Amino acid sequence: METPSYNPYQVAQSQFDKVAAILELDDGVKELLRQPMREYHFTIPVRMDDGKIKIFKGFRVQHNDARGPAKGGIRFHPMETIDTVRALSMWMTWKCSVVDIPLGGAKGGVICDPHHLSLKEQEQICRGWVRQIARNVGPFSDVPAPDVMTNGQHMLWILDEFEAIHGGRYPGFITGKPVGMGGSQGRTEATGFGVIFVLREALKEMGIAPEKTTASVQGFGNVAQYAIRMYTQLGGKVIAISCWDQADKKAYTYCKKNGVNVEELLGISDKFGGIDKNRARELGYEMLPGEKWLEQEVDILIPAALENQINNSNVQNIAKSIKVIVEGANGPTTPEADEVIKQRNIMLLPDFLTNAGGVTCSYFEQVQCNMNYFWEKNEVLEKLDVKMTSAFKAVSELARQKKLYMRDAAYVIAINRVAQAVTLRGWA
Ligand code: GLU
Repeated sequence: METPSYNPYQVAQSQFDKVAAILELDDGVKELLRQPMREYHFTIPVRMDDGKIKIFKGFRVQHNDARGPAKGGIRFHPMETIDTVRALSMWMTWKCSVVDIPLGGAKGGVICDPHHLSLKEQEQICRGWVRQIARNVGPFSDVPAPDVMTNGQHMLWILDEFEAIHGGRYPGFITGKPVGMGGSQGRTEATGFGVIFVLREALKEMGIAPEKTTASVQGFGNVAQYAIRMYTQLGGKVIAISCWDQADKKAYTYCKKNGVNVEELLGISDKFGGIDKNRARELGYEMLPGEKWLEQEVDILIPAALENQINNSNVQNIAKSIKVIVEGANGPTTPEADEVIKQRNIMLLPDFLTNAGGVTCSYFEQVQCNMNYFWEKNEVLEKLDVKMTSAFKAVSELARQKKLYMRDAAYVIAINRVAQAVTLRGWA
């Protein structure tokens, strides 16, 4: 579904330019914020299981740290590019700002496909990644976390190597760690649950009862799984999930009219969120082409996979019935598609607001690590709900007052805070 001309960094910059104009930002501030402050490109040599050395390419981009240490995940992806990482680092700055946590924005990546790497090889990539960047990251400068195709185990290898290099224990250096190893309760659930807390508030304002709604989801990774669970808990019904079948190396839309069941699908999925289509058929799922998730006659679309999934080539296919699009992924909608969605008066809940639950819980994890005192899961999830709900209300209120598209309203709040921080620091 990638469009050849798509460049996420250009998308992030064009979204920024549009709002910088609304805010009438000073030229210096604008120039500073429309690009990353620092970026690192490096090689990671790994001795593969067959005895040969393979060189992987790694990145870390720190977009802005005026409001606090740079924060953001590390992705493992075979198609990773520096421009994707740049865009994602920028989106992290706005994400931390819109939920008002004292952190900046960063992102990292490694060009690799963990489907074809043993755990030992993945461990070496993690250790190699941090060896190359250990002087430029740390609990008070740049704090990584999991992202696409990385998890708590990867984070712990990275932390262990960092601590070996620096000779001490620095649990606040990385978040998304396993519970019991400095991780927070609720971190795994946080992004997906947060997505649905925002959806719940939006539906409330729209006067729609969640139990009367249906949804179609793209993706079946960590974000999608917990979003589906929480949405189902609110009484909603997910009737379609679009995701990858590893054997066919293509996406299908898995449909079940009386509602999909996360637990049964987990039994037939791999750890990267791919679902076995033959076994799904046995469980009563009907298989449609991957892109059909957009065309389902439901109320809500939840893109929770990757960037550039709703674009010029498919935005016209969005079913007439759609009332809300809730962006669980980072950057799933292109600016051209945004225009169409806006014209159609669909309520769009933008990525960096909607999926900020992950980094908000990461912030809670840092706070707990600093105190060396860990909260119960309910306490974490309640605090998360408060943060997500108040961020949504502020954005929705501004959108109403100034008649702005929700993405633009979220940007106005986020960019304003960062612009103030760089100005107060005397950077621009
Ligand atoms: N990777 C997640 C995101 O894109 C979480 C980042 C973090 O916790 O630092 O928001």
